[in-house]
Amino acid sequence: MKQGLVLAFLVLSCLSLVPLQGKVYRGSIDFIELTEPPLRYSDINAVWEMLKEEVGAPGDFPPPPLVLDWEVPHKARMGFQYPTVNYPQYPLMVSIAPRTIDTWHHELVTYGVGHELLHYLFLLRDNGFDLEKRTFDEASPHHCNREFMRISRLIADRIWDMYHSTEHRSVMYDEVTKSCFNQPGQ
Ligand SMILES: [Zn+2]
Repeated sequence: MKQGLVLAFLVLSCLSLVPLQGKVYRGSIDFIELTEPPLRYSDINAVWEMLKEEVGAPGDFPPPPLVLDWEVPHKARMGFQYPTVNYPQYPLMVSIAPRTIDTWHHELVTYGVGHELLHYLFLLRDNGFDLEKRTFDEASPHHCNREFMRISRLIADRIWDMYHSTEHRSVMYDEVTKSCFNQPGQ
């Protein structure tokens, strides 16, 4: 047991020597290394490919940055933000609260990321898929939009194709309805 602990410590201390971000400390500590969060990128990419097709985006249209974001309000799990005329300082990105990855089942994390990517694609479609724009015209509300709700259920189905969890799929279907009921203006 004790040996196992020492071994674990050694492995961890070796890992911490790897300069993950390629940065070097110079006299003071003003950043922290981050390990890669356990997102299932291949699952997210499968959802992303389906979403582009459903929304009619160009096949090579780039996704927004996914950002591990400690600023996500406590009641939220993740969110999509973009610069508008009134808030030009907002970055175009999907923010994910680290606690979401820690506490949500990976299927639901993938569903959540898919939901935010769908917001992104709807917004960009309304803006001619023009990523050169500095600000974007405000999106009309999505959550109760029938097409948005239909494609959101397809995300749940796509994840079901991978893991066959009927229980998780019904949680995701519930999320579709709850988003419309609780945040019809988004
Ligand atoms: Zn939403």
